[in-house]
Amino acid sequence: MAVGLLTDAHERLRAEVRERFRTLEAPAQYEGDAAVAAAVKGLGLYGYLVPEVYGGVHPGVDVRSVCVLREELAYRNGAADSLFAVQGLGSHPVLLGGSEAQRQALLPAVARGELLFAFALTEPEAGSDVAGLSTSARPNGHGGYVLDGHKRFISNAGVATHYTVFARTGEGRGGISAFVVPADAPGLEVRAGMALLGDHPIGELFFRGVRVPAEARLGAEGAGMKLALSTLDVFRGTVGAAALGMARRAQDEAVAYAKGRKQFGAPLAELPAVQGLLADNAVDLEAATLLVHKAAATKDGGAERVTYEAAVAKLFATEAAQRVVDRALQVHGGNGVVRGFAVERLYRDVRALRIYEGASEVQRLVIARALLKG
Ligand SMILES: Cc1cc2nc3c(=O)[nH]c(=O)nc-3n(C[C@H](O)[C@H](O)[C@H](O)COP(=O)(O)OP(=O)(O)OC[C@H]3O[C@@H](n4cnc5c(N)ncnc54)[C@H](O)[C@@H]3O)c2cc1C
Repeated sequence: MAVGLLTDAHERLRAEVRERFRTLEAPAQYEGDAAVAAAVKGLGLYGYLVPEVYGGVHPGVDVRSVCVLREELAYRNGAADSLFAVQGLGSHPVLLGGSEAQRQALLPAVARGELLFAFALTEPEAGSDVAGLSTSARPNGHGGYVLDGHKRFISNAGVATHYTVFARTGEGRGGISAFVVPADAPGLEVRAGMALLGDHPIGELFFRGVRVPAEARLGAEGAGMKLALSTLDVFRGTVGAAALGMARRAQDEAVAYAKGRKQFGAPLAELPAVQGLLADNAVDLEAATLLVHKAAATKDGGAERVTYEAAVAKLFATEAAQRVVDRALQVHGGNGVVRGFAVERLYRDVRALRIYEGASEVQRLVIARALLKG
């Protein structure tokens, strides 16, 4: 039975996918982003990212369901979690800002997994300061636009069929517009395979005179920054859910290891120092779970914006997950840093969560701003 902020339906979803996601278990068998993309598509989860009227599962995007799915995906395979989440991040601006024609044309295919989206905001000179982006979208004289610029750190690059691209149509924050650009658009070079510390499909995009029609623009000219921030509002808290999944896995691994490994004639689990590590992990996990589910439940309850709640959840859960994984690795001793042990992979995979979709320092700014305004 559900306790706390999730319903029985969420717990049933968790129980159902927990078994199915076992197939994602061995990351080695999924070497290459295309293999991970095929595996995730095969799970048939993308309907959770799109409302029912466009072929999705729920009347709206149920953020708690997205959290449950991210927790269970990240428990098994970090790349699979990222792939799934970025489909949501990339397609949500279509839902929020697209015309009915754009939604009808794109979202049912997103729900079926026939289209795979990415979210292209970050640039070499515009990271935390996203409003400083310089990719340009100039009018082509026939109602359309010509895009020029360079996007970096774009998850799903190489496997995505479509990129939601934020580009400058004017000055300042109000001069940014969003466009849907197909991966095969002439003049777009996709450089996939940025090698990161952890497993994560990611790359760079180079726009050289990429022509898009007026119908590629989402919402009004200048609405791009609002669309980007509203989308991040929905998905930022779910990064905390991915962190929870990785942390829970690390804790399960540490508990099993501590029971199995003997030193000084007894299992490690009998040593008070090891018990302390496991207990601190449990406290971090319990607290992070409540914050992540609270932010999601607040959004599901009808709040228009959950900027503060999502920032609190993301900040605490990702920082806590780093601590949990580190302690779990410590319980494994030398084996913790041996390739092939789950905690070694988790140690590498969890690190990026404190950086993407707004680094921890930026979350603190967001939280402080909410506290001090007025
Ligand atoms: C694995 C991964 C996946 C990603 N996926 C995507 C994606 O799909 N799409 C996309 O558009 N982007 C993506 N990003 C980019 C990500 O959102 C940025 O890396 C992040 O916003 C930080 O920007 P930056 O790397 O340029 O760091 P910088 O902005 O240069 O920051 C460097 C450091 O300075 C701190 N800092 C910066 N400004 C402030 C401030 N005002 N106050 C206090 N501290 C500050 C930061 O917290 C950080 O510690 C991804 C990044 C990673 C690592």
